[in-house]
Amino acid sequence: MIQEMGKLYVVATPIGNLADITFRAIETLKSVDLIAAEDTRHVRMLLQHYGISNKIIALHQHNEDKAALEIVEKLRSGLSIALVSDAGTPLISDPGMPVVKAVHEANLTVVPIVGACALIAGLSAAGVAITPFTFEGFTPRTSSARKTFFSERAAISTTWIFYESCHRILDCLQDMATVLPPKRSIVIARELTKLHETIVKLPLAEMVTLVETDTNMQRGEFVVIVEGAAKIDVSDNTITPEQERILKLLLTECSVKKAVDLTVEITGGKKKPIYQEALEFSKSNTVLD
Ligand code: SAM
Repeated sequence: MIQEMGKLYVVATPIGNLADITFRAIETLKSVDLIAAEDTRHVRMLLQHYGISNKIIALHQHNEDKAALEIVEKLRSGLSIALVSDAGTPLISDPGMPVVKAVHEANLTVVPIVGACALIAGLSAAGVAITPFTFEGFTPRTSSARKTFFSERAAISTTWIFYESCHRILDCLQDMATVLPPKRSIVIARELTKLHETIVKLPLAEMVTLVETDTNMQRGEFVVIVEGAAKIDVSDNTITPEQERILKLLLTECSVKKAVDLTVEITGGKKKPIYQEALEFSKSNTVLD
């Protein structure tokens, strides 16, 4: 008799509102032989809520490679396994990648059980251009790395999205404001599906002021959506504070032409407004010819 292989089910769970789970997800969590979870205590509470008792194994980021091999072995022996993370869709800024990859490499079957995902929920309600968009996961942790990260994306003409925590949302927006134009549209999708769900779309400068002044806007979980450059910056002749800083620094050492060319090269900005700013600055200050 040929042993039938088990399947790996990648099961999405709620991102806040416990009603946001599909019938198929519940059926799958009930019927599999094992549930592989990011945090066993967390998933136990979730399962309790739906009246599911099933065997749970831990899948931490630091044991994922080892766990991946064990999961493949279990699937080969005919067991079916559900993979869940703490919230939303596994693998989306969550553990699971080595497991899914190993299961594919073993020529076994992976079945997605669809459901909540914060970035898709945020995007669906943001009112910005959807295709194409880039999902960036979490931004770097330090301010200087974040500024570099944002300036590398300043000229991208399509929508980009990232996840942010309450600890860093304000610093993150303030860093962004040093690099991106003040009129760039930003959407904050906060506490999606929960009691204090808030979705706000504002120009960057106004968004920074809002988050600085309203401390509620610094609480909870965040999806940040940035509208692409070309769609809104075509007639935007302002330069960013970072471009201005670099330009003025260069004007103390180089000619106007050189300073403008270098600023464009470093920041990826448009030449015309930078040149305009250099002329204004040179009128009221002594600069090199
Ligand atoms: N796997 C999850 C998904 O499918 O969206 C994401 C997990 S990631 C570790 C957690 C981050 O997702 C949070 O820090 C926040 O940026 C975002 N997030 C999760 N739930 C959210 C919610 N209800 N509202 C807004 N953002 C949320």
